[in-house]
Amino acid sequence: MDKQILYDAIDSERNALKEISDQLWEYAETAFNEVKSSSLLKEHMKAHGFNISDVPNMPTAFIAEYGSGYPVIGILGEYDALPGLSQKIQTTQEPVKEGASGHGCAHNLLATGCVGAVVAIKEMIASGKLKGTIRYYGCPAEEQLVGKPMMAGEGVFDDLDIALSWHPANNNEVVRFSSLASNSIKFKFKGLSAHAAMAPYLGRSALDAVELMNVGANYLREHVVDSVRLHYCITNGGVVPNAVPADAEVWYMVRAPKRDQVEEVTARLMKIAEGAALMTETSFTSELLSGCYDMIINRDLAELLDKNLHEVGGPEFDEKDFSFAEAITKDIPQSVKENVMSSYYILPEQIEGKILMEDIQDNDNWDKVMPGTFDHGDVSYIAPFAYLFITALPVGLAGHTWQVTACAGADMGIKSVLCGAKVMAGTVYDLMSDTGLVKKAKETFLKDTGGRKYKSAFKK
Ligand SMILES: [Zn+2]
Repeated sequence: MDKQILYDAIDSERNALKEISDQLWEYAETAFNEVKSSSLLKEHMKAHGFNISDVPNMPTAFIAEYGSGYPVIGILGEYDALPGLSQKIQTTQEPVKEGASGHGCAHNLLATGCVGAVVAIKEMIASGKLKGTIRYYGCPAEEQLVGKPMMAGEGVFDDLDIALSWHPANNNEVVRFSSLASNSIKFKFKGLSAHAAMAPYLGRSALDAVELMNVGANYLREHVVDSVRLHYCITNGGVVPNAVPADAEVWYMVRAPKRDQVEEVTARLMKIAEGAALMTETSFTSELLSGCYDMIINRDLAELLDKNLHEVGGPEFDEKDFSFAEAITKDIPQSVKENVMSSYYILPEQIEGKILMEDIQDNDNWDKVMPGTFDHGDVSYIAPFAYLFITALPVGLAGHTWQVTACAGADMGIKSVLCGAKVMAGTVYDLMSDTGLVKKAKETFLKDTGGRKYKSAFKK
């Protein structure tokens, strides 16, 4: 059957994919610095006959495309690393380079799995077995939650019929929950400096404004829906106590289950900032650092992805993988492991006695909202979207840690990559073979969004 040809094609690329993944792991470039990583991916796609195009104002973003016409299916790749998470491929903590960055979210695997999927689909289009357009979206700066909203602001997803992505994870599952929409905003207050003892009456304190703003924001908490998350830190509180601070800055994040709620709370926060400025006779400016939508998982696509996940099966790990996974998580108490897994609604009985999950979870989480944000939420408001988790990490290991960097470079990673690539490619195969599935997903998308037109937080 043709799907077996697809899977075999992905398996035959194993060495090339492992090389890409290892190289990205070594580069470990942080948000917007992914110069070598994006070049490597672009070169690989170009060599496979893809057309490469740039994204305006985003040097480390790109689009690789092959084929033509309907349906247009995009797979979203990410390749940024995290600062300070450099780590050798071993089970005890030791950085490759002190203070350097590392792939503590395993985006080297994420990027590579997407390569595996699109290249296999490309071969099928080239041989006339499939019709349509396949795209790899090279999306930078996911860790700052800005890459895709900015790309979306440039309109690069507008003509997509379907979008898919995956993440190396602690378990195998088609995602059936939503995530929070968010805004990240810096407020800079400007006042007047003066000697704090000799002439405080001449000063107007920017720090006072920040503190009063925070008081106001803390009172606001009582009058927003329960699921709103409001967090801040003071990023500049002045320099010395004996000078009235002329400059102060506070960095806020506003999160809520829906984008509209985030916008509403943000507007109220703006009023609080205005009030604080008025009270202190200071002025302020605000800068939106990121603004993301919540994630809509398209049920039709999720079903199709799940069918493909069951056809492919989870990755199979060997003795070496299990002993690495066991050693690197040996100090994590079971209760912490359960907590980590519960953020994805995995139940304690589903992880009992497990080190690396090879089985598939089909939990009914449709009414749940994960208390975090994904920047592909924006894409899920532009085209039908579905999202896949494939095991690359031990049970109970939290993201953004040195342990993840180690696992992302270890041998179990490529098994996750191949599995993720097959499930996504199989899904694209089904969609291109039967465009009725695309139509159905688009109808559901219209119902989900109510036909509302997407607007990027970065587009004024
Ligand atoms: Zn990630």
